Amino acid sequence: MSFTVFGLNPNILKAIEALGFEHPTPVQEKVIPHILSSDRDMIGLAETGSGKTAAFGLPILSRIDMSFRGVQALILCPTRELCLQITRDMGSFSKYISDPGIVAVYGGSSYRTQKQKLKEGARIVVATPGRLVDLIGQGIADISRIWCLVLDEADIMLNMGFKEELEAILEAAPEERQTLLLSATMSDEVARIASRFLRDPAELTVGKKNVATASVEHTYYMVHARDKFQVLKRLVDSHPGIYGLIFTRTRGGAKEVADKMIGEGYNADALHGDLSQDQREYIMGKFRERKLQLLVATDIAARGLDVQDLTHVIHYDLPDDLEIYNHRSGRTGRAGKTGQSLAIINMKEKYKIRRIEMTIGRKLKEGRIPGTREICEAQLLDMMDRVTAVEFDEQRLASYLPAILQKLDGLDREDLIKRFISLEFNRFLDSYRNLPDLTPLQQPKRMPEREVPQRMRGERKGRPGDRAPSRRSEGSFMWLTLNAGKIDGVTPPKLISMINSCTRGQSVDIGKIDIGPDRTRFQVESGSVDYLLSVLKRRSFQGKRVKIRGGI
Ligand code: AMP
Repeated sequence: MSFTVFGLNPNILKAIEALGFEHPTPVQEKVIPHILSSDRDMIGLAETGSGKTAAFGLPILSRIDMSFRGVQALILCPTRELCLQITRDMGSFSKYISDPGIVAVYGGSSYRTQKQKLKEGARIVVATPGRLVDLIGQGIADISRIWCLVLDEADIMLNMGFKEELEAILEAAPEERQTLLLSATMSDEVARIASRFLRDPAELTVGKKNVATASVEHTYYMVHARDKFQVLKRLVDSHPGIYGLIFTRTRGGAKEVADKMIGEGYNADALHGDLSQDQREYIMGKFRERKLQLLVATDIAARGLDVQDLTHVIHYDLPDDLEIYNHRSGRTGRAGKTGQSLAIINMKEKYKIRRIEMTIGRKLKEGRIPGTREICEAQLLDMMDRVTAVEFDEQRLASYLPAILQKLDGLDREDLIKRFISLEFNRFLDSYRNLPDLTPLQQPKRMPEREVPQRMRGERKGRPGDRAPSRRSEGSFMWLTLNAGKIDGVTPPKLISMINSCTRGQSVDIGKIDIGPDRTRFQVESGSVDYLLSVLKRRSFQGKRVKIRGGI
C-alpha cells in the first residue's frame, strides 16, 4: 500500500516522501483513513516504534483549517521528551506547509515562551497534562474549539499520576470532538478512562491485548536483595555480546547502578531525569550508535528512546505496575529477532512472578545464576567467535609473518590455542575463580531476627533446610569477642544481621551471645571461625571499625 491512497494533503505527501516513508505501517493503515473520514472515537494498543505519531499526525495536519488561528487539535502525552519528539515529528510532516502553528507545552521549562507562542496563535497543541492544566487555568490555552484530542501513551500518563489533570482536560474539551486513545497496555485504569470519556470507540487492534511478544524469552533470577548487583554483573558477563537496557525504579538507582558498572570497567551509562536535555540526547545517541553497550534507565527516562536490535532487557528492579514489565520487555525481540527479558527478583517479590505471568500471558523460566564455569565458558566462546570473525589483511601481515612463524616454531596447534587463550584469559579467570553460589536457599538457613532470642539461649532446634540438628557440645563452638557492646548499640539481632550481611551464601552457626557494656562475646561453630574472622576484618559496626579476636 502507498500513502497516496489516503487522500492526504499533497504538501504532506511531499514531506512523507522526503522522510523516506514508502509504505504505511499497520497502525497507520488503520488510523489515517479513520481520522480522515470518520468522527468516531478510537481506542488502540500501539507502542513506540509502531509509527503511531504519523498515524495520527498526518491526518490531523491534513484536516487542519489554515484559515482559523485557534487550537483545533490537542495531543496529550506523558513526558517532556515525548512532547518534544511528537512536536519535532509534526514539524517534519508539515515541512511544506507554511506556519502550521504547532506549539509544544510541557513542564520543567519557562512559561514565558510557551505563553507567547500560544498567544501568537496555535492550531495544534502538543502538551503534557500538568502544564496544560495550568495554562488553561490561567486563560492562556483555550481548548474549547478542538475537534480532535489524542491521548498518547495513556497508560503512562495514568501511571505517572496525571489522572486528575486528564479528567480536567477532558471535561474542558468540547463534547463534539473525536478522541483517539493510544496505549501500549490496556490496564483497568485506562479502560475506566476510556469508558468515561470515549463514545462508542472503534477498536484498533494491531497487536494482541496484554500478551507478550512471542519473540521474547522471559527468565527470572531469584536473589537476596543484597546480591542484586553481583547477579547483574554475572548476567552481563555471561552474555558477552549483550546490547541491553537495564531498568531501575528510581533515578538514584539508575545512577548508582551505572556508576558501579562504570567503576568496574563496563561500557555503561545512565539515563535519568536529573540530566539536562543535551546530556540525555548525547547518551541516547551513543547508545543508538552502539558505542554504549549498556544503558541503565528509569521507565520515564527511557520513554523517548527508540532503539531497535536490543539483545536484552534487564529488570534490575521490578516496576510497581507489572504492565510496565511487559512494555519494557517489548523493547527487545523486535525485527524478527529473539530477545531476552531477564528479571532480577528479590526474595520478597517472589509473589510477583505469578502476577507477571498473568499479565503477559506467558510462563517465566527460572534461571540459574551463572557461576564461574558458565561465565568463563561464555567469555571463551565469545572470544572464539571474534577470532573466527576477525578480518585480516593478508598483504599487510605478509612482511611480519616469517619472523612470527619462526618464533612460534615448535608449538603445535593445541599448544598455540591454549597459549593465546591464556594470554587473554588469565586475568579474567583469576577474577572469576571460585565465585560463591548466590542462589538463595528456598528456606533461609539462618534464623529470622525475631527468633534470635531462642538462638541466644543456644536451643538449637532443627529448621527446614538446616543440617540435621546435632547434640553438639559447647566444644564444637569457639568464643569470639567483638570490640563493641551495649553502649555501641549491639543487640543480638544487630549482631546476627552484621554477620549475615558479610557471610552471604555461607551458613555460619552462632551459639550463645553475651553482650557486655563495651564488648560482646559470641560463640561460632569452630569450622567457621577463620572464615568469619576474614570476612569481618574490614567491617564496621555503627561506624566503629570491627575488631574481633578469638577467645573470651
Ligand atoms: P513512532 O512509533 O511514531 O515513534 O515512530 C517510530 C519511527 O518510525 C520514527 O522514527 C518514524 O519516523 C518512523 N516511521 C513512522 N512511519 C513510518 C513509515 N511508514 N515508514 C518508515 N518509517 C516510519
